[in-house]
Amino acid sequence: MTAPNRIDYLRVSLIDRCNFQCVYCMPEGADLQYALREHWLTHDEILQLLSEVFIPLGFTRFRLTGGEPLLRPGIVELVEAIAHLPQTQDLAITTNGFLLEKLAQPLYDAGLRRINISLDSLNAETFQKIIGGKGKSRWQDVWQGIQAAHRVGFSPLKLNVVVIPGINDNEVLDLAALTLNQEWHVRFIEFMPIGNDDLFEHKGWIDSAAIRAQVTERWGLTEGQVAGNGPADVFQIPGAKGTLGFISQMSECFCDRCNRMRLSADGLLRPCLLNESSQIDLRSSLRAGVSLSKIREQVGILVGEKPEINFKMRESGITGAYSRTMSQIGG
Ligand code: SAM
Ligand code: SF4
Repeated sequence: MTAPNRIDYLRVSLIDRCNFQCVYCMPEGADLQYALREHWLTHDEILQLLSEVFIPLGFTRFRLTGGEPLLRPGIVELVEAIAHLPQTQDLAITTNGFLLEKLAQPLYDAGLRRINISLDSLNAETFQKIIGGKGKSRWQDVWQGIQAAHRVGFSPLKLNVVVIPGINDNEVLDLAALTLNQEWHVRFIEFMPIGNDDLFEHKGWIDSAAIRAQVTERWGLTEGQVAGNGPADVFQIPGAKGTLGFISQMSECFCDRCNRMRLSADGLLRPCLLNESSQIDLRSSLRAGVSLSKIREQVGILVGEKPEINFKMRESGITGAYSRTMSQIGG
């Protein structure tokens, strides 16, 4: 086993619902059991857990996600409160960008500096096919959200692309080209069998190495660097202002490098995205009046077990057949 990482990064899901129904995440018709609203951790509970449990255990870096975190009522106030905890060293959000045009400035003013926006296509029609739903494509809204985030000064602005064969793999070079003239970081994520196993079986997934090969053939590729806490391998097209990231959880398991824990909107703490057996229910403990020092002790034990869990996940690999989707766990 390699030396354990420092576990200091918490992804906090604020909501398991979404205004998109991405084909790889929560496809239309999927029978998802949403958490009851009264089971969502309240803002006070989230802040209490961060300041009294996670921060004393050494967590200093937080990412807000979902579902779609910008749908969470009071998101700006929550961001402000977390950004101003004295120990917060890094606060980021992952969003689909649909509500970002109007929220980019308030979020920035609240203290947020890092943002990841999902953008799987530059083609409005393909985009709409991916995100589901009827009516006019929402691509333009998301694009305006991205532009607003850029104008406001989020840096590095990161764009997440899940590459699905036969759906958006023909756009890899166009998406990579976004980094030529802007200091953006475009990250290609390998499609995982979590959320839509049928699509995964039917379409398969594309290896990061194949995408790198396409980019290399077109422009060449050198190693690069970008600020952040993620598992991406970072590269740069020679002369480009921005960078490219590759998240290769299917082709190159990075469980041994994993430094993150995940807290779901309904208060379940998981040491691993895909490990369903080791989670603990912090909401029930809090609401049953278990003391914060006792909860801290339980969380500390789980954090201590994580290197071993990472090791087992590395051995077992990604198997499919997971009961919660990324939107429910907090991707
Ligand atoms: N709604 C926000 C968004 O889409 O950015 C945040 C939550 S979403 C679950 C977080 C990330 O998980 C997104 O970048 C999304 O593309 C990714 N994701 C969801 N399902 C996935 C899957 N089956 N394979 C790979 N990535 C996935
Ligand atoms: Fe919603 Fe994000 Fe999942 Fe798409 S990937 S359905 S935007 S949670």
